[in-house]
Amino acid sequence: MVGLHLQELLIIKFMEYERIYLDYNASSLIRKEAFNLLEEINSSYGNPSSVHEEGRSMRDLIETSRANIANSINTNEKNVIFTSGGTEAIDIALNQNPGRIIINSTEHIAVFEAAKDTGSKIETLEVDYNGIVDLDNLETMLSKGPALVCIMFANNETGVIQPIEKISEIVRKHNSYLFCDAVQAYGKIKINFDQLNIHFMALSAHKVGGFPGSGALIINENIKKIIPKISGGGQEFGIRGGTENLIGITAFGECAKLIDKIYSENRKLKEYINILEKNIESFGGFIFGVNTERLPNTSFFAFPDISADTLLMKLDLAGYSVSSGSACSSGKVKKSHVLEAMNVDDKIVSNAIRVSLGWATKKNHITSFLNFFENSFNKSVLE
Ligand code: PLP
Repeated sequence: MVGLHLQELLIIKFMEYERIYLDYNASSLIRKEAFNLLEEINSSYGNPSSVHEEGRSMRDLIETSRANIANSINTNEKNVIFTSGGTEAIDIALNQNPGRIIINSTEHIAVFEAAKDTGSKIETLEVDYNGIVDLDNLETMLSKGPALVCIMFANNETGVIQPIEKISEIVRKHNSYLFCDAVQAYGKIKINFDQLNIHFMALSAHKVGGFPGSGALIINENIKKIIPKISGGGQEFGIRGGTENLIGITAFGECAKLIDKIYSENRKLKEYINILEKNIESFGGFIFGVNTERLPNTSFFAFPDISADTLLMKLDLAGYSVSSGSACSSGKVKKSHVLEAMNVDDKIVSNAIRVSLGWATKKNHITSFLNFFENSFNKSVLE
């Protein structure tokens, strides 16, 4: 190895030990198209609010991205507000509540935290064993008065998809507002924002192959007044001040332009998830939300006698990156509040492992992942 450069050594190391990344719901691999775009715009500079030529060309890049994102969810570009990610979009949306917030019990932790910060009255909406919100209960709660209702499009842990169209109808019937966290659904299933008549929706770039630190809040055009959380210099129609994150936004827009390709990639992933789940069940595993409609790339499962932290560690050492549910900033394996809300037996909740696939997943990644279990359980993999 004498005389080799560090880069060559790293390539050899990589070839010896290929890691298999199966944690796209935490963050996707950055798409090649997003990187290529960086090369294209690497000589761009200036502030998009400046009136000179450099500023105007920055503005063009941002507005093109806004239009691409709007097109990808069938809404007007004026309804797209760039933020620093899904979490900030959630924060702004929840700040618009009329003093009462109803939260689906399987929401992302960012929704619960943002709600607490508002100081408003918070009520939780239960889900059934499959993770679907109780619509009758929602009607009963709303009949007591208006609220901001927070129900996600699809769950980040189980992939379970909520009946958003029906939910939107109920919320409107009761003169309330609907905030829908579509961070995980975006790119995996089609979203028609205008047709669904949602009031607020959150998106995040790094779940579709863009860069972390970029996202959007989508606001229904009939909502005229929004209370900003960062006023700053009045950017983003006065809703989110601060000089725009050009790289994050343009890469996000580039991914949005590819939305149809991304949908078809995801449809293909369902085939891999089916192979995975057939085998997990044959090894004695239990799959959560199996009886309901789920995202095509996600599987959340548990084996009765193996705790998630042990299994995660073993898988990590063997070269497989999966997670125990939602990514947590402490890096610790925490019990899933989603499974608790679904009334899953406490013994199995601590064993749950999430596999989430994405654009670079290949069939042989799944075969290899299953071989790990085949060796552990001494059973053969089913085709
Ligand atoms: N909502 C859901 C459902 C998520 O899965 C995530 C990220 O894990 C977020 C919100 C937060 O998005 P971001 O990481 O862009 O702040």
